[in-house]
Amino acid sequence: MSIANNLHKIKSSLPPQVTLIAVTKTHPVNKLQEVYDAGHKIFGENKVQELVDKYEVLPKDIQWHLIGHLQSNKVKYIAPFVSLIHSVDSLKLLQEINKQAEKNNRIINCLLQIYIAKEETKFGLSFEEAEELVASAELKALKNIKIVGFMGMATNTDRKEQISNEFKSLKTFYDKFHNVSTFNFELSNLSMGMSSDYHLAIEQGSTLVRVGSSIFGQRG
Ligand SMILES: *Cc1c(COP(=O)(O)O)cnc(C)c1O
Repeated sequence: MSIANNLHKIKSSLPPQVTLIAVTKTHPVNKLQEVYDAGHKIFGENKVQELVDKYEVLPKDIQWHLIGHLQSNKVKYIAPFVSLIHSVDSLKLLQEINKQAEKNNRIINCLLQIYIAKEETKFGLSFEEAEELVASAELKALKNIKIVGFMGMATNTDRKEQISNEFKSLKTFYDKFHNVSTFNFELSNLSMGMSSDYHLAIEQGSTLVRVGSSIFGQRG
């Protein structure tokens, strides 16, 4: 199947409240152009350098999401154009994003990445750390960021029940904030699910799915 076919098949299967992010990491620009030409304009990359390189050569109406771990010293490269950062996992990083957003005269939308997996390789805040960050005086001082949701990655396992339970735990946490709304904190996005588990994530309330290999094929 072609990339365009894969894309259309997945998009037409998603419920209306779910947005697809085409995860383009490791794939060459000509393949991204195929997705763009098929009418899709929301792309996710997990590395800053790759995101910037692709941004520079592709059409400017693409929305670029940074989905991978972000180091503070690299925020400045994406701050002029990034549309959503999924992987905020510390106050320090949020402060740097705020600083760079201010320099660019923007408000940058962010998701807090929450650690829900039973693995040591994944980044993210614990529920307790996230709650602390949300309640902190330091957050209230940040005028150029907005926290618009949470992101989480499930354990890489074949055990569907475990994956579903991990997603469910994040949805439960997300729902605790449903009537919290300030100038820089208002949740409407729950980023959960990739090629192997986005069906389960949607069942548990995901609104943003990050899908790579099911569109582009396996990464080389
Ligand atoms: C690579 C990646 C994805 C997509 O993975 P696929 O299995 O190719 O769908 C989703 N989220 C993050 C954070 C990733 O790094």
